[in-house]
Amino acid sequence: MSKATMEKVVSLSKRRGFVFPGSEIYGGLANTWDYGPYGVELKNNVKKAWWKKFVHDRTDIVGLDASILMNPRVWEASGHVESFSDPLMDCRNCKERVRGDKLIEGKLGVETAVGKTLKEIGEIIKNEKIPCPKCGKCEFTEARSFNLMFKTHQGVIEETSALVYLRPETAQGIFVNFKNVQATARKKIPFGIAQIGKAFRNEITPGNFTFRTREFDQMEIEYFIKTGTAVDIFETLKKESWDFYTGLGIGKDKMRFREHDSKELSHYSKMTVDIEYEFPFGWGELMGLAHRGTFDLTQHSKYSGEELNYFDPETNEKFVPEVIEPSFGLDRSVLTFLIDAYDEDEVGGENRIVMRFHPDLAPIKLAVLPLVKNKEIITGKAKEVFDLVKKQYISEYDETGSIGKRYRRQDEIGTPYCITIDFDTVEKDDSVTIRNRDTTAQERVKIANLLAYLAEKI
Ligand code: ATP
Repeated sequence: MSKATMEKVVSLSKRRGFVFPGSEIYGGLANTWDYGPYGVELKNNVKKAWWKKFVHDRTDIVGLDASILMNPRVWEASGHVESFSDPLMDCRNCKERVRGDKLIEGKLGVETAVGKTLKEIGEIIKNEKIPCPKCGKCEFTEARSFNLMFKTHQGVIEETSALVYLRPETAQGIFVNFKNVQATARKKIPFGIAQIGKAFRNEITPGNFTFRTREFDQMEIEYFIKTGTAVDIFETLKKESWDFYTGLGIGKDKMRFREHDSKELSHYSKMTVDIEYEFPFGWGELMGLAHRGTFDLTQHSKYSGEELNYFDPETNEKFVPEVIEPSFGLDRSVLTFLIDAYDEDEVGGENRIVMRFHPDLAPIKLAVLPLVKNKEIITGKAKEVFDLVKKQYISEYDETGSIGKRYRRQDEIGTPYCITIDFDTVEKDDSVTIRNRDTTAQERVKIANLLAYLAEKI
C-alpha cells in the first residue's frame, strides 16, 4: 500500500519547496500553484528526460516551440470553438458548479457518462438522484455547454482589438507549422514534431492539487504517418509512452491502459488509449495517445487555403499524412512522480519521510555535509569536495544543524546520496562517507575515487 495521501504530498511540497499555493500572500488564487526551488528542478528534469527520450535519442522526431497566442481561425479549423466544451450545471441550492458528465462518471462509471447529450445528462442525474458533492441535494439547473477556452484581446484598446484565445493544447502549433518543419528539418514520413509548453483550459471543476488546473504544461508529439501504417506505429508509441514512466521508476502495478469507447472519442479521434495512474483519489489520466487521422491537416488546409500535404519522393505521390498523437501532461506527470516517490519508514527508531525519486529526476543529486561547522579543517575539506562534485552534479552544501537533521532534510527532498566529511577524512584516510538515501547504508570512499564511484551510481 502506498503511504502517500494527497494531504501528505501537498504538505511536504509546501514545507520543502516543491509546490506553493499561487499568490499566497494575497489569499491565493484558486487552483493555481507555483513551483518552488526543488519543484522547478524536478519539473525541468521531467522535461529533460522526456525530450531526451523522444527527441534527442532518436532521429525521427524534432522539436518546436510555438506561440501560445495563435490566429483565432486556428481554433475554428480545429473544432475547438465549436466543440471544446463540457456540460456545466449549477446546484440551485448551494450554487456549486459541477460538470454533469463527471457527476455521472463518479456514480455510474465512465461508460454511462460518455457520449450523452446535454438533455440526457440532466435526465440521468435527476433519475438517479445524484447529489451535489457540496450540499447533498439533487436540484440542478439544466446542463449547458461551456466552452473551456480562455479568451483575451490582442491590441491596445480592448474594444477595437481582436479576440484571441489562450491555446487549450499545444498540438495546433505543431499542425500549423507542419510545412515549415518538414521542409527545414528535411524529414521523410514517418516523422514527428514534439513540443513542450503551456496550455490553458477554463476547467469547471479543477482540483486535486496540480492534477487538474486551468493553466498547465503539456508535452506533445504529432507523429505524421502514411495511411495503412497506423496500427503498428500506434502500438510502438503506446509502448514507448509506458516505458517513459516505468523507466523513471513508476511501478507497472500503479499504471494501466484505458481504451476509449467509441462514444467517448474526441471529435478528431479515431482511436484513443490513455495511460492512467492510481492516484490517492482514484485512477486518473496521465497521458493520452490518439489516432487523429488526417483531421487536423485537412481542416487547416481548408481554412487557411494552404496545401498541407506531403510529397513522397519514392512513389512520386502527394498525400495528407495521418497523425498519431502522444499527449502527456507535464504537471500531472510531476504530481505522479511526487506521489510515487513519497515513502515513510523508520531509521534508528525514528520515523522519516523519504522521497525515492529516480536519480535522473531528483532535484538535488548530492549533498555535501561537514560533520561539524566550527572546525575549519573539516569545512575547508568539505568545500573542496563540494567544488569537485558540483561541476558534474547539482549539489548542495549544508553545514547547519545536526547531521541527523541534515540527512532527514535531504531524504525529504529526495537527494540520492549524502557525502559526509569527518575527522577521519582529514586526519586519516582522505575518504568520505557516502550515505544511500534508500537503504541509509554508509560506505567509505576515497576522495580520489569519488567521481568514478558517483558516475557508476547516478
Ligand atoms: P481530462 O479527461 O483529465 O480532462 P483530457 O482527456 O481532456 O483530460 P487531453 O486533452 O488528452 O486531456 O490532454 C492531454 C494531457 O494533458 C492529459 O493526459 C493530462 O495529462 C493533461 N491535462 C489535460 N487537462 C489538464 C488540466 N486541466 N490540468 C492538468 N493537466 C491536464
